Amino acid sequence: MSATHDAVVHQHPQPTAAHAARVVSAASVEARNDVTSAAHPRLFANYLTLVTVLGVGLLALVLLRLDPRVLAHVPPGQLLALGTCLALVVLGEVRPVLGSGTADPNGVTLSTTFVFPVLLHQGLVPAVVLHAVAITISGLVERKSARRTLFNLGQYVLTGAAGWAVLAAAGRRPTLEHPWVPATLWDLLPIVLAAVACFAANNVLVWIAVAAFEGEHPWRLMRDDLPFQAAVSCAQYGLAPLVVVLMQHAPQLVVLTVVPMIAIERSAAASRVSHEQATHDDLTGLANRKQLVHEATHAIADSARTGEPCALFLLDLDRFKEVNDALGHQVGDAVLRAVATRLTGALRPEDLVARLGGDEFAVLLRRVRDVEAALEVAVRLQAALDVPLEIDGQAIDLEGSIGVALVPDHADAYEVLFTRADIAMYLAKHERTGVEVYESSRDESSASRMGIISGLRTAIERGQLELHYQPKATLDEKRVVGVEALVRWRHPVRGLVPPDQFIPVAEQSGLMRRLTDEVIELALAQMGRWTALGMRVPVAVNVSFRDLVDLELVGRLRQRLAHHGVEPALLTLEITERVLTADLDTARITLEALRDLGVGLSLDDFGTGWSSLRLLRELPVTEIKIDRSFVWRAVTEPDDEVVVRGLTEMAHRLGLQVVAEGIETEETWQLIGSLHCDSAQGWHLARPLLADDATRWLAERLLPGVPPIAEPGCPPVAPVVDAPAVDAQPVDA
Ligand code: C2E
Ligand code: CA
Ligand code: CA
Repeated sequence: MSATHDAVVHQHPQPTAAHAARVVSAASVEARNDVTSAAHPRLFANYLTLVTVLGVGLLALVLLRLDPRVLAHVPPGQLLALGTCLALVVLGEVRPVLGSGTADPNGVTLSTTFVFPVLLHQGLVPAVVLHAVAITISGLVERKSARRTLFNLGQYVLTGAAGWAVLAAAGRRPTLEHPWVPATLWDLLPIVLAAVACFAANNVLVWIAVAAFEGEHPWRLMRDDLPFQAAVSCAQYGLAPLVVVLMQHAPQLVVLTVVPMIAIERSAAASRVSHEQATHDDLTGLANRKQLVHEATHAIADSARTGEPCALFLLDLDRFKEVNDALGHQVGDAVLRAVATRLTGALRPEDLVARLGGDEFAVLLRRVRDVEAALEVAVRLQAALDVPLEIDGQAIDLEGSIGVALVPDHADAYEVLFTRADIAMYLAKHERTGVEVYESSRDESSASRMGIISGLRTAIERGQLELHYQPKATLDEKRVVGVEALVRWRHPVRGLVPPDQFIPVAEQSGLMRRLTDEVIELALAQMGRWTALGMRVPVAVNVSFRDLVDLELVGRLRQRLAHHGVEPALLTLEITERVLTADLDTARITLEALRDLGVGLSLDDFGTGWSSLRLLRELPVTEIKIDRSFVWRAVTEPDDEVVVRGLTEMAHRLGLQVVAEGIETEETWQLIGSLHCDSAQGWHLARPLLADDATRWLAERLLPGVPPIAEPGCPPVAPVVDAPAVDAQPVDA
């Protein structure tokens, strides 16, 4: 009486070449075994439990009321009919009809064809028992999880009960002893109503489960799924009256009804293959352009209804043509397939990846919080593509350019959205930033922004970025505890450009990753030089919060540390929360890996971000840097003195180090010292220094507790008393 169309955990259909698109979400389908991977895990788990408890409870009631003696009086023909149905239902459960374009990769099983007639002919008890036995057998044969089998049990019992209730309301109460056989045309009415009730109950139960799992709206699933489910179900329920007549008058012929069902199964399978071919790309199994348009149009409509943005990315491989020309089409094809796998691997199951032809791909995020979140996903994709591919033993370097556009920010219809994403992609490629979000206003600010971006890219390539180092010391004895590396851009015309003029811009583009890599490289190279001079200098490097969503960051860092022979413990990353990250989970993964690597983690500008305290609780940091605005005001405003004292106390309780930044005067130094901060940084101690000046400055002082490793005869421990403020560059003044 039901389409198996069980949401909980599907068995994946054999992926034919054309069907490979579903492979894309193979992981997600597998993951359905795991409640925790649901979009709403608690809702999903509770819902499964509810359906299971209701259904299994009802089944238990039914079984309790079953009198086994009744079986002795059932005519053999009826038993034969029941046995045949049972065999066919088991078969049907194991071989589902696969749909085309249905949300449910498990398709529809033939069981309806044989369970529904039993319900009509002999009532709820045999129908439900028969289905329960079939489900249990197929669950065992196919080694389905107990959770899935139980949910299916519940689902089918409730479905049967819905049909039975309608029949009963219409005055038809068939039982094993008193079967009912429709005789007149009027008898079709309760049958149709019962079929509708079964169909609705079964599908609603499933759509809700899928919706809770995938975070989809049940309405959307229904819209996509209904046509297929309805078509197959019509054929199945339509056959029921005939099966009933056979059960009554020629039970040995019931088995023949499997013939039209096999025909339906075959034609559904054929329609699925042709649907797949029409909507998917043969080479990669991804959706094709037609499917993208279809899905995007729906997503845009959903977004208009819910107010939640959706995003389109267009992605173009930067060096694909060269690879194809140099290594041949076969390698080219393998590259495209590998890219397809990487892209899908870096996305959530509900996102859609399409290949538009050649080396052009598209990604549809059906729902995304905002532009920032979309940008993060794009940067993650870019990072996923950046890792060289291994094909036939050859390492192939690929890079992609990604253009991002959102509904409703940039467009409200598919064509406009596509064009805007395309413009953004062109910019990303042209400016070689990797990722660009469409910007509507080609006004001056965005023109100057583009100027900065393209200039900055050149700056990185030509080595125009340099680091200045600002010392940090303990408050009490002014013993040096390390330096902070601060980037500057030595512009050929504009001179030394301070970071405030380009970091925020870079953070909004795919260029930030390259900038961070360059800064880390420069810092580690300098640390290597200091190590060679016998100086162990702890260095803090600034990274943007968004850098942490790059899962490759840790691997690259580990490799560069080893390359320069730098101990991880000497490096601290200062994380600024200038941009909010949508992806705190990924950031946490990165931070935990960094902590395991032994790198220190500091929350920069602490106290200014909206979520500083939350981040402190959620992320494995080792230090906070109290923002200079608090430090400055602490001298004049008693309230700010209280804030600094409070933050320090709290951090110490959490076992964290506290650094006060921006101390310009002796007076502030004394005050902050009395508030028990561990160390401080600021012009009062020293300005940011060029590398050579920093080396000289440091060599005159010794780092406490960290003896020199190469030169045992280094200067003795000497507190820094009123170190001259060396102004490295006018920009810092
Ligand atoms: P920040 O991390 O808070 O860095 C401290 C800033 O305060 C530096 O400005 C430093 O020169 C300045 N400063 C230090 N002591 C004093 C003082 O006593 N008084 C005053 N008025 N200022 C002081 P800078 O170098 O211009 O850096 C500005 C911001 O740019 C940094 O703030 C940091 O957020 C960002 N930044 C700098 N370098 C990098 C980098 O390599 N990567 C990233 N992602 N961000 C960076
Ligand atoms: Ca900093
Ligand atoms: Ca700071």
